[in-house]
Amino acid sequence: MYDTNGSVMNISPWLEANSQDSYYRLEVVAVDVQSVAMPTELDNMECRLHHLESKVIEGVGKAPDLIYELKSQVESFKRKLESVEHLSWMGLFRDDGERHLQAKFTSKLQSPPMSLQEERQKVRMQFLNMSSLQVTEEVREHLKTPIFDNWQWEEAEMLVLLQVMYTDLDFMTAFHIELDVLQNFLFEVYCHYNNIPFHNFKHCFCVTQMMYGLIWLTDLRNKLSRIDLLIMLTSALCHDLDHPGYNNVYQINAQTDLALRYNDISPLENHHCAVAFGILSKPECNILKNLTCDQYKHIRGGMIKCILATDMARHNEILNKFKVMQPVFDFTNKDHKEVLMKIMVKVSDISNEARPMAVAEPWLDCLLQEFFNQSDSEKLKGLPVTPFMDRDKVSKPSSQTNFIRFVLLPLFTELTKLFPCLEQHILEPVRRALDYYSTMERATKGEEDTTKA
Ligand code: 5GP
Ligand code: MN
Repeated sequence: MYDTNGSVMNISPWLEANSQDSYYRLEVVAVDVQSVAMPTELDNMECRLHHLESKVIEGVGKAPDLIYELKSQVESFKRKLESVEHLSWMGLFRDDGERHLQAKFTSKLQSPPMSLQEERQKVRMQFLNMSSLQVTEEVREHLKTPIFDNWQWEEAEMLVLLQVMYTDLDFMTAFHIELDVLQNFLFEVYCHYNNIPFHNFKHCFCVTQMMYGLIWLTDLRNKLSRIDLLIMLTSALCHDLDHPGYNNVYQINAQTDLALRYNDISPLENHHCAVAFGILSKPECNILKNLTCDQYKHIRGGMIKCILATDMARHNEILNKFKVMQPVFDFTNKDHKEVLMKIMVKVSDISNEARPMAVAEPWLDCLLQEFFNQSDSEKLKGLPVTPFMDRDKVSKPSSQTNFIRFVLLPLFTELTKLFPCLEQHILEPVRRALDYYSTMERATKGEEDTTKA
């Protein structure tokens, strides 16, 4: 903003009133920074700010704080864009824009601490340098149990452990999977999980590890075909690929590209699955490339069903189907097997509370962080606020007591009817978690009542 003499003015609450004789002139140098999506516009803005800064310094010797503030906003937004560059499906990055942005980063800004690209390459090198042979028998056995603690392991180590799961279930020999193809596949899966509080690569690892544990605990290797086990493990691995951190309700209410693309029908799960088959479409990552057409079709069909089944909006529909089959469950019946596979993926997906408290509780913090991010954004954008994500309405205990009572216990109880050995492995820890959070809830309520009195 300039005054009648052409001097730049600082916009502030102490600014003198405008008049016809001494009017202010506004020159737009930036529109709302947060809403600019295309890197070219950011570049233009950066140039104009730079130009303005030089003009001001020429004129008055020092640029006002506002210019530095705008410059730092542009810079921070560019960093944000770089850190979400993998969300390419949002239309944020065109191919040329991405390359352009990357080039500018290397040439102009001081190099950021470590770019996403470098970080991933480091993980890749560590992963490839670690041989799965180094994984001891003790760890291999531990990996088959729900008490496995994901927080003790680095991302590269988790990739090695995932490799162990594929080898120890004999998938490599059964499906003629070459080691380097499996490693490329696992690495691509890792790269396609976003750096968000909950639905990240660590969640992918936990869900896959729980599925692996359940396969061993229930002796499914002797009840289902190897190909069905491959479907279940790979579905668990891929089930949240490229999750943006905002759920289906948000996608639909905000009319995002994903909701548009999938006509509001499980937009996220459809996307996770499409990303999975996008990865598999690259020959160097295609762990299914040595299978027959029929085998491939069977696996693709199975994975689509299992991943789409993770939409919690379909929870009751799937659980009820399973309940009906329960008294006469038949491992040779195709429909029964299909529902069981969906149930196994669903159980693994929401199994954090079946883990030891020290492992489970940090996961709840991550989940609530992601929930609160969503409800904050809904409030900002004037969208309907999802009640169970509202930081003004939910707390750790209230969130868990309801989820355990109405979702986890009914689901886990049903699976335990088919596999009684799961009682001690998943049902008991979940009951303990319910006690823990119920006590916490009562204590919080007691405190509130005392405060009110
Ligand atoms: P996902 O999005 O991971 O595929 O599907 C599982 C959904 O179930 C999560 O997004 C979340 O809404 C819900 N969920 C999973 N675990 C928990 C939990 O421990 N507590 C609560 N309150 N919700 C959970
Ligand atoms: Mn999940």
